[in-house]
Amino acid sequence: MNFENTLSFAQAQDEADQLRHFRSDFLFPNHNGKDFIYLCGNSLGLQPKVAHQVLERQLNNWANYAVEGWFDGNEPWMFYHKELKKLMAPIVGALPAEVCPMNTLTVNLHLLMVSFYQPKGKRFKIIMEGGAFPSDQYAIESQVRFHGFDPKEAIIEVFPREGEEILRTDDIVAQIKDNAGEIALVLFGGINYYTGQWYDMEAITKAGHEIGAVVGWDLAHAAGNVPVKLHDWGVDFACWCSYKYQNSGPGGISGIFVHEKHFNNTGLNRFAGWWGYQESNRFKMEKGFVPEAGADGWQVSCTQVMPMALYHASLQIFERAGFIESLRSKSITLTQYLEFVINEVNINLDFEQYKIITPNNPKDRGAQLSIIAQRNGKQIFDGLMANHVLGDWREPDVIRLSPVPLYNSYEDVYMAGQVLLQVSKDVLT
Ligand SMILES: *Cc1c(COP(=O)(O)O)cnc(C)c1O
Repeated sequence: MNFENTLSFAQAQDEADQLRHFRSDFLFPNHNGKDFIYLCGNSLGLQPKVAHQVLERQLNNWANYAVEGWFDGNEPWMFYHKELKKLMAPIVGALPAEVCPMNTLTVNLHLLMVSFYQPKGKRFKIIMEGGAFPSDQYAIESQVRFHGFDPKEAIIEVFPREGEEILRTDDIVAQIKDNAGEIALVLFGGINYYTGQWYDMEAITKAGHEIGAVVGWDLAHAAGNVPVKLHDWGVDFACWCSYKYQNSGPGGISGIFVHEKHFNNTGLNRFAGWWGYQESNRFKMEKGFVPEAGADGWQVSCTQVMPMALYHASLQIFERAGFIESLRSKSITLTQYLEFVINEVNINLDFEQYKIITPNNPKDRGAQLSIIAQRNGKQIFDGLMANHVLGDWREPDVIRLSPVPLYNSYEDVYMAGQVLLQVSKDVLT
């Protein structure tokens, strides 16, 4: 598409956008009577307007039914999570039985590693991307220590080549092959939080399986952002948070995926709790843990109704938007437009002040662009904030901006470019 750096072009794009009305389902942060241009859905998605109502409904259920709310009313809590499973499955390309909402992301990463990181003899290593999100680094490090290994020996990190910012699939695959026989687990983030690179999940999953390793994915930045096919790709397990691209609110419920090929595997370790117990017999309260079939068998504690109600409401918005395919198609163009607009800022400034490190091929990225500000980055970022453009800052010099197809417009992107140009001129000249 031929983009233009004009308000009229942006507005014409919005006019033609079938998904534009979803914007009015969300609340934008507002300061001094003026809405922010919100480009930070990679960190915390916006609040759906129905959130209040949804919470109030559950508060009323609690008030009216108290403990009977588990069984009574129009949405009894006992099986409430099943409503979510149906809507989560199409977001990550899974069967409903393969997914379950529970806990929070890092907790689930630990629980799934308990099951799927089973070092044996020489096969004890985990391969991951260098520069992974810190929580994942700490989780993996502590898991290998828990099994008695030294992280320096047991963790292989794949880094970009000298002078490059992003990983080459060939290099990842080569390192997996080079360490065949020693790798127990391949565990990457679907999209890297810092660079915005979307890894070739299918190729990496295949390479891991070819050497006999288990393959898991942290989809914090991928779920609800890009289409993934966890079932078809044969991914062993995955987990994600729902408060980034899925708008479930701060600390919102996490989701897990366990491939159905593992449903009958009785050799998997688990850190069990009563809610993972076989559903039909759970309340016999008997000794000896028997897991429920499917992903539900990984549940530990009873249903977190409030955060699940928020996630449910948000998933219903995705359902109305046709889940992920149409959103993705808008997302590709919207992010390309942001790329174009940032390049226009460089052209206007007459030097490459902004260098985008996120891959430029849409197949290698989601909504987010990570932009190195060559000079005075933090000052420029603060200037954006002061002028109602909200992205986020990652040390030492990266501004992350993510136009989200559910609630961002082409006009948002155009205006962000105008503000960036003005702030850059103010700060740099
Ligand atoms: C956002 C994010 C997390 C956050 O973990 P919580 O347990 O929800 O705090 C973890 N890992 C990755 C890759 C993330 O992007």
